[in-house]
Amino acid sequence: MRRTFQYSAKLSKNVEVCCSASLEQCRILYNLALEQKISIYKQSKKSISCYDQMNQLSELKEAFPEFAQVGSQCLQDVIERLDKAYQAFFKRVKHGGTPGFPRFKSKDRYNSFTLKQSGWKLEGRYLHLAKIGRLKLFLSRPIEGKIKTVTIYRNSTGKWFVSFSCDEVPKKQFSETTKEIGLDVGIKSFLVDSEGNKVNNPMFLKKFLKELRVKQRKLSRRVKGSNRRKEARLQVAKTYEKINNQRKDYLHKVANHYIENNKKIYIENLQINNMIKNRHLSRSIQDSSWGQFFQMLSYKAEEAGREVVKVNPNVTSQRCSACGEKVQKTLAERIHCCPYCGLVLDRDHNAAINILGLGQSLYTTTYGALANA
Ligand SMILES: [Zn+2]
Repeated sequence: MRRTFQYSAKLSKNVEVCCSASLEQCRILYNLALEQKISIYKQSKKSISCYDQMNQLSELKEAFPEFAQVGSQCLQDVIERLDKAYQAFFKRVKHGGTPGFPRFKSKDRYNSFTLKQSGWKLEGRYLHLAKIGRLKLFLSRPIEGKIKTVTIYRNSTGKWFVSFSCDEVPKKQFSETTKEIGLDVGIKSFLVDSEGNKVNNPMFLKKFLKELRVKQRKLSRRVKGSNRRKEARLQVAKTYEKINNQRKDYLHKVANHYIENNKKIYIENLQINNMIKNRHLSRSIQDSSWGQFFQMLSYKAEEAGREVVKVNPNVTSQRCSACGEKVQKTLAERIHCCPYCGLVLDRDHNAAINILGLGQSLYTTTYGALANA
């Protein structure tokens, strides 16, 4: 199983300068390679392959020695990234979308470089990078499996991180269980499960949202291009960083709890990206945390040999979980009160039971069909 381990890193001034220089060289290469792809296509209607661009790297290094300062694998990775961006673009075009063409990267949009098998060495908590130096890692948990790639990453507030993508990571061992559960995410509570347990929305968000609004107002008053504006932007980024970190912590805990105690977890297949558009700030943060939560659940499930199943969200909140009749309600009605069978239940609890039931019936019909085939 593949898994990524990320750690924050401490860099000496010298090493930081070198890492920043590498980032910048990679960014320049990315833009050069993109420009080459575009101009070759314009001239000859032919496209230059990833392989061909990689083969030109040694020539490039001879002409511009500053590229030789960066490890060759790093440079190859830049070409691969561009290729991936291209492929993703054409894939979306093929599927009828209108994606943005791969863009030239400005300084604040290029923030990581990747090494593969060579150019690095891990000794205890020190990561040695060839031509750069030594980074001290905060190994909050051990790295497992075989390290495939090492990525050095700088976030928007200038902090550095190293992530290791590893193969053959052993599965986590949780005690055997056959329990299944449905989860309904919402606004009022972060989620309600099919057993009626509520997980509250994290309160710290509220506090930070206020702080964020104050700082954003400040930012909008600063003159464009000024140093004070730069500082204000950094302050906004720092608040976002705090929100993200605390939210991540919180979501990890909730996800761990459900993974540990259930064999199968049923969730709604929400179109989260569609929901985020044009929303109030607090709402969009709420929305994106659902997406993040579902992602966490999925990879944690894979790590632990559990299963997350998405079901169609239609009518899960309107259907009565006891008798199956449709009971229309507005968003404001918090209680499901069934006129057909008399069931009275918290609205989200009712929805969670429906999600569980829908998921389970999905399984029995699929397996039933397979058995009859
Ligand atoms: Zn009913």
